[in-house]
Amino acid sequence: MVKVEDFTTPIAPTWCPGCGNYAILGVLKQALLKLKISPHEVVLIYGIGCSGNMADFIKSYGFHALHGRGLPVAAGIKLANHKLHVVAVLGDGDCYGEGMGHLIAASRANFDLTCLVHNNMVYGLTTGQASPTSGKGYKSKSTPEGVIEEAVNPMALAISAGATFVSRGFAGDAPHLTNLVAAAIRHKGFSLVDILQPCVTFNKVNTFAWYQERVYKLRASTSDKIKALEKSFEWGEKIPIGVFYRERRPAYREQLPQITRTPLVKQPLGRVNLEKLFKEFI
Ligand code: SF4
Repeated sequence: MVKVEDFTTPIAPTWCPGCGNYAILGVLKQALLKLKISPHEVVLIYGIGCSGNMADFIKSYGFHALHGRGLPVAAGIKLANHKLHVVAVLGDGDCYGEGMGHLIAASRANFDLTCLVHNNMVYGLTTGQASPTSGKGYKSKSTPEGVIEEAVNPMALAISAGATFVSRGFAGDAPHLTNLVAAAIRHKGFSLVDILQPCVTFNKVNTFAWYQERVYKLRASTSDKIKALEKSFEWGEKIPIGVFYRERRPAYREQLPQITRTPLVKQPLGRVNLEKLFKEFI
């Protein structure tokens, strides 16, 4: 029986008091418990940013990747051992800025993994620069006169790129977010959970109160891309949360006959001389 203490580390979170990251940490643990997944059955891959500090606060297999490179690492791990649950924990700058190309590649491939994005619409770790999801006109250290570009729309991007589970949650509604994260991990294929996560220190616009006034829950998901895309552009006075788009399409790994039966890591090396390979490359 898995217990929440199984995921506990001796290190206390160092996030600012009131940060939305605390809720996401709790939600991730609760979702894994709900699915009866033990720490040794899951690999959490972190990017760079305040969200990446979670690497110290939850016990599981893990990898702290370079900025923007969480998704290719996650895909490699899943292809090497598809018996493991693989979850990438990234920030909005990491996933929608530096790692944008990897998000599109993972969506197209339908890699069988989950991507959780702490979307606070600011670079928090580097003390408050505009990020790819900062709204047009948003004033920050790096944009004192306001952001000029249009904000990235993660839902529309993932749906059109081919992701098979595209959703948005809110760090201020933990029960709803827990169900969303559990459903995303259960999904076979690439699942994205964009999480509205207030950065209480540097983003004074998109606050908990700002979201509380606007978010509402979608009643049901759809497998109709056009309908999902229409919904993905709803932003402003009303902000939908829930599953925007869901379909079942064979995941990348399911189309590789070499690993259909046995994960790559369990297969014999055959005539490969590892010592010789190491000498050649290391
Ligand atoms: Fe959270 Fe923002 Fe503080 Fe980072 S800077 S820990 S995102 S409140």
